[in-house]
Amino acid sequence: MPYSITNLANRWRVPPASTGDPVLRGTQYLEELRQATPDFVRVELEGELCDRMKMCGWIGLQIQRINQHLQSLLEECEACLHSADRPSVQILAAPLATDLGLEGICILQPPITLLIDVGRVLPQDWLGLVAHEYAHAVVGSPGHTVQFQQTLTHLCLGLGLPSPPTGRSSESLASWPPCRPQIHPTAFWLGRTALPHC
Ligand SMILES: [Zn+2]
Repeated sequence: MPYSITNLANRWRVPPASTGDPVLRGTQYLEELRQATPDFVRVELEGELCDRMKMCGWIGLQIQRINQHLQSLLEECEACLHSADRPSVQILAAPLATDLGLEGICILQPPITLLIDVGRVLPQDWLGLVAHEYAHAVVGSPGHTVQFQQTLTHLCLGLGLPSPPTGRSSESLASWPPCRPQIHPTAFWLGRTALPHC
């Protein structure tokens, strides 16, 4: 029986009710994400087995803190729009397979879900990444169209991020705002990257 993605973010923004095994909790988080997202979204940790166990343990201990911070970034984006224009969106951190070539993804089937690979982008640039995926949610399309550009420009102005220059090709829009990559994505999930104040 697949987990329902509805309320997944709500449940994984709060600390666990009891102190269980962090590795099991992290494993459960990844499993719930996998079961609740389409097959093409490949949620996976990379590296040796012992490192993946450590990453699961770190996720088990820290994931609610990361997801709560992402929620606050999402709310900053939402505040740029009138309430009537805001789609219902949830947001979760997820390690995505490297060969997908994605730092984040907006799953448009309701409930609209933003998955953010916080391991691939410096924490200072998470807001830009969230704004990009949120713009897809607002427009309701995965494409980098004129309407997407207008929405992203509005969000960037509201958030104090650099606006996409006019006349950009859809390929350039696909990576706007510019986000600085983490040099070692696995290091983040091992807890070796300083976290933002969240
Ligand atoms: Zn995009």
